[in-house]
Amino acid sequence: MTLTAPPRLLLVHAHPDDESLWTGGTIARYAASGVHVTVVTCTLGEEGEIIPPALQQLAADAADQLGGYRVAELRAACTALGVTDHRFLGGIGRWRDSGMAGVAANDHPRAFANGSFDEQVAQLSEIIAAVKPQVVVTYDDFGGYGHPDHIQAHRITTAAAADVDRVFHAVTSRAATEAGVAALAEMADLPWRLPAEGELPVTDDAAITTTIDISDHLVAKLRALRAHSTQVSVWQDGTGGASYALSNGIAQPVVQAEYYVLAKGPAEGAETDLFGGLD
Ligand SMILES: [Zn+2]
Repeated sequence: MTLTAPPRLLLVHAHPDDESLWTGGTIARYAASGVHVTVVTCTLGEEGEIIPPALQQLAADAADQLGGYRVAELRAACTALGVTDHRFLGGIGRWRDSGMAGVAANDHPRAFANGSFDEQVAQLSEIIAAVKPQVVVTYDDFGGYGHPDHIQAHRITTAAAADVDRVFHAVTSRAATEAGVAALAEMADLPWRLPAEGELPVTDDAAITTTIDISDHLVAKLRALRAHSTQVSVWQDGTGGASYALSNGIAQPVVQAEYYVLAKGPAEGAETDLFGGLD
C-alpha cells in the first residue's frame, strides 16, 4: 500500500454470516495489518434456516428470535476477524431479511429488498461520509447468488459509493472452487455431499481482477464461520483439510484466496491488494 491517509475498508453485507463467508479472510488480513475495517450489515438474517435442532424454535414462524440470536453470532465473528467497527444499516432492526425470492417474508413492511431505496442509500451514504473509506466491497449485480437482499445491497452500495476511490464485488473463483471441490473428494470423512457440477455460484477467472491471498488468515476465517453456527457448519480433519456447509448440506471448499471484480476505480496495482496503487 502506498496510501498517505490511513487506509479504510468498508464492506456492505446483506445478512450476518455473509461477511465471513464472502470476505472473512480479506477482513482478517486487512484488520491484522492495521487497516480500519468497517462492516455494515443490512439485516439481522431473521429468515435464515437453522441448522442445530436445539435452536429450531428461534425461527421466524416460531419464536421469531433468530435475528437477535444472530446479532450475537455476528459479534463473535467480528471479534474473530478483528473488526471493531460494525454497524447495521439504519440502526439495528431497521431492515428485515426478505427471504429468498417468492416467499411471504418479501412482503414484510420492513423487508430490506422492498424498502425505500432512497432511505437506504441515504443511510449508507451517511456511514460512508463518516468513515471515508478509500475502498468499498459489496456483491455483483446478481448479489453473488441471486438473493434479493444481496441484490439490494449491491444496488444501494453502487449508488452510495459514487465518490469512493475503488468499489469491488466479492465473487468466487471457478478454478479455485473446482480445485477445492476436487480436494474435498479425496477426503475420507467429509460429513456432507459434494456439490454437483454448477451447483455452487462461481465467476469465470478471466473476469476476476483481484486475488487476495488469505492463507495466513484461514484460522480466523474458520473461527468466524464457526461463530455463525445457526447457519454454517465447519468441518476440519486435523490434517489441514477443511470444509463448511450451509443448511443445504452441500460441502464447500475453504480456499486460500478471496476473489474480487473491480467495479469502479483504477485497475493499476489492484491485482493482489485492494488498496494497491492508491495514493
Ligand atoms: Zn446473505
